[in-house]
Amino acid sequence: MNIHEYQARELFAKFHVATQPGSVAFTPDEASQVAAKLGGKIVVKAQIHAGGRGKGTFKNGFKGGVHLCDTPDEAKDLATNMLGQVLVTHQTGPEGKEVGKIFVGQAVDITRELYFAILLDRATSAPVVIASTEGGVDIEAVAEHSPEKILRLAVNPFLGLQPYQTRLIAAKLGLTGKLMTQASKLFTNLYRLFLESDCSMVEVNPLVVTAQGELLALDAKFNFDDNALYRQPAIVAMRDVTEEDPREVAASEYALNYIGLDGNIACLVNGAGLAMATMDIIQYAGGSPANFLDVGGGATKEQVAAAFRIILGDPNVKGILVNIFGGIMDCNIIATGIVEAARETSLAIPLVVRLEGNNVAAGKKTLAESGLSLVTGDDILDAARKIVAAVAAH
Ligand code: ADP
Ligand code: MG
Repeated sequence: MNIHEYQARELFAKFHVATQPGSVAFTPDEASQVAAKLGGKIVVKAQIHAGGRGKGTFKNGFKGGVHLCDTPDEAKDLATNMLGQVLVTHQTGPEGKEVGKIFVGQAVDITRELYFAILLDRATSAPVVIASTEGGVDIEAVAEHSPEKILRLAVNPFLGLQPYQTRLIAAKLGLTGKLMTQASKLFTNLYRLFLESDCSMVEVNPLVVTAQGELLALDAKFNFDDNALYRQPAIVAMRDVTEEDPREVAASEYALNYIGLDGNIACLVNGAGLAMATMDIIQYAGGSPANFLDVGGGATKEQVAAAFRIILGDPNVKGILVNIFGGIMDCNIIATGIVEAARETSLAIPLVVRLEGNNVAAGKKTLAESGLSLVTGDDILDAARKIVAAVAAH
């Protein structure tokens, strides 16, 4: 799960991570009020679940999702230009994201822009700190062209981020004296935030040194481990479903493991490994998957029907491949769910079903007696070839 920058700032406050004052605004008038209260130079930032806003462009031609200005009236104008508009950045994909709120903050006099992040490194099963002197809007280019400027430091999960490590990172970032003390505190607090909030990533880019000699976190991008959300009610309360793929939101209501993709062959599979294999084989057969969907080992008829409805609600889907290997899963439950949903929605696209395993005979019978026009696959490759051919011919 992701949250917005203005929400991440609540966590900054809770964990004493220094940042600039400011607050969220939902209308141009609110933006002007916040700016008036702050006084001085102002920054206005589009709030979307994606980075690269500064260099992004709105679909209406307005350039940049991060702007500096001098007066409340200018802040209001900027808010008017951004709110309700679709911002495209290198992280949003070409479809962009609609801006529903903006952050209005105090502009600061920046002397250096640094990069600091903590993420969970699956390779070492440990948190890793990533830091660079080259923070700001071009960190991706730094990673690509001068990787030596990026420091990686693994943290022992049992010991946590040690004071010698925070000082080492600070030193590598060229932060000395009072700034080193501030940096050590900030890194320690961010690490606590990362751990206690069950983050999979916290990224601060830029972490800035101001002309007044302060160290401030000016941007925040946080990801949370979905599997830990059950013990993070305050984080769950920050969820903004308008930022998520509507197909994935619907799937999450039925506890389905669904990830939307941009191909046109939907797949409904039980088990994540089989789902991955099914997507690979669709690709191998010359097609392109429209989603990853694992209904799980113990899916109910209702979940299967919901999964089918979500698939059919996607206008890009031109064919469906059901690939079930029933172990715990009863093939007949899958078959019944499919028949129910297909009747309801008057299925008009090709459907190929490959069923194998637990109670397969009953499942095949349910499908055969349903009167649905579907094709059966003998094995996974045969099924994939059949759906690819059917979609091409349809
Ligand atoms: P994004 O990473 O999505 O482009 P940032 O919040 O990092 O958005 O803002 C982009 C750039 O805008 C920063 O690298 C910084 O140079 C500038 N900026 C952001 N916030 C402020 C601020 N409060 N005062 C001055 N400049 C800022
Ligand atoms: Mg940034």
